[in-house]
Amino acid sequence: MDWLTNLNWHDGFSHGRFLWIEWHFWKVIGWLGNLVFFSRFVVQWYATEKKKRVVVPLAFWWLSLAGSFLLLVYSVWKKDSVFIFAYAFTWIPYVRNLIIHHRHVGAHLDCPSCGKSCAPNSNFCSACGARLTTAPNVAK
Ligand SMILES: [Zn+2]
Repeated sequence: MDWLTNLNWHDGFSHGRFLWIEWHFWKVIGWLGNLVFFSRFVVQWYATEKKKRVVVPLAFWWLSLAGSFLLLVYSVWKKDSVFIFAYAFTWIPYVRNLIIHHRHVGAHLDCPSCGKSCAPNSNFCSACGARLTTAPNVAK
């Protein structure tokens, strides 16, 4: 029951500890990774609640990438093969989703009449009804 005796106010905020954690550079990296990685759930949930449908915002992939990178760095420092493996390959779908998003945004068509950015492969502007050219929007 040693862990229980450590769960008191005195030990939790003294002896170089804060919230029962012995802080040092790598602990900050690891906990920052946890914080960033966890925040993606909050961002995704908020976006979904706001739009009243399931949405995965762009920030979700960036937070996933940054958080998992920090956790990978921490796990490499810890030399923990389980967590190194857990975070070594997660960047692949994150980067892939970012690339697909970038390409999708780039494939939008600018309306020559009103300037609205319209969905890829649209024939007519959803705002003013003008005929759209097939040249994709490369500015974004
Ligand atoms: Zn238009």
